[in-house]
Amino acid sequence: MTLLDGKQIAAEIRAELRTQIEAIVATGRRAPKLAIVIVGHNPASETYVANKLKACAEVGICAEKIAFEDSITEAQLLEEVAKLNADNDIDGYIVQLPLPSHINEQTILSAIDYRKDVDGLTPENVGRTVQGLPSIVSATPRGISELLSRYHIATEGKHVVVIGRSNIVGKPMAILLMQRPYLTLPRLSAAAVGNATVTICHSKTSNLKQICLTADIIIVAAGSPALVTADMVREGATVIDVGITRVEDANSPKGYRLAGDVDFDAVAPKCAFITPVPGGVGPMTIVSLLQNTLQAYNKQ
Ligand code: NAD
Repeated sequence: MTLLDGKQIAAEIRAELRTQIEAIVATGRRAPKLAIVIVGHNPASETYVANKLKACAEVGICAEKIAFEDSITEAQLLEEVAKLNADNDIDGYIVQLPLPSHINEQTILSAIDYRKDVDGLTPENVGRTVQGLPSIVSATPRGISELLSRYHIATEGKHVVVIGRSNIVGKPMAILLMQRPYLTLPRLSAAAVGNATVTICHSKTSNLKQICLTADIIIVAAGSPALVTADMVREGATVIDVGITRVEDANSPKGYRLAGDVDFDAVAPKCAFITPVPGGVGPMTIVSLLQNTLQAYNKQ
């Protein structure tokens, strides 16, 4: 069993990005700039934003956090989005999700200029991805693609089971896997993802275990700790665990620990490759945001 070390691969990609950005700045051009909009005080969101800001600093991307109180209205947030669309100094920006319940997330995401949509969540970018056109791809599927590629895990002709159908992870992941390689993502380093036979499962799927047992690769993004158990995984499979759930843990100084969607200890011995949680997909998601920001900068 080989552990897919997202932390290590993300560090390597950050080093590559730093070199590229230093070369850009050495020519007299300004550094790429990312803005991160956050509304309210969701502790998990604040941690993600802090990690993104730190990663930007490490590679030389200027990053600005724009924070609003929960009381901001949808109309006011739309005005802020319009300002960011018009700001020529900002190459890309994200609106950290989730938003408070009085704000319609889809309304906000749809207002983002797709050229600055470095989370790849606007209908324009998603549509371009579906049509196999160059686009900015959602950070987590991009990160998983990069991780598979850098470990030379080919997807061509393989049966990949994606558990979860969210707009952020499940759907775009399934699209990247099933289409011809290299269409939407910039060329990845090794064996690109694509040309797989994909099955998408979700909360209403009735025979999840039977479907998973036919998978060469399982990618699970359900937010349901230990959903994937050893009896669902065949020998030699690859398992990518996207799930991050905070579960109470009195033994942890923070009072909680992060749980993935896979019963790791029981599943890992059966796998050819598996991601840990934390340290697998999470760091890859953050580094993909940096890659997307540089991609947006290069297009401006
Ligand atoms: P979501 O809640 O929008 O979607 C969850 C999906 O899982 C749904 O489509 C649902 O149908 C499916 N699902 C739920 N329970 C199921 C079950 N028992 N059987 C089969 N399918 C089931 O979630 P999301 O935004 O896609 O995130 C999923 C998980 O991934 C969450 O834990 C989230 O925190 C995590 N996440 C991690 C990263 C990362 O970088 N590691 C990035 C994004 C999301």
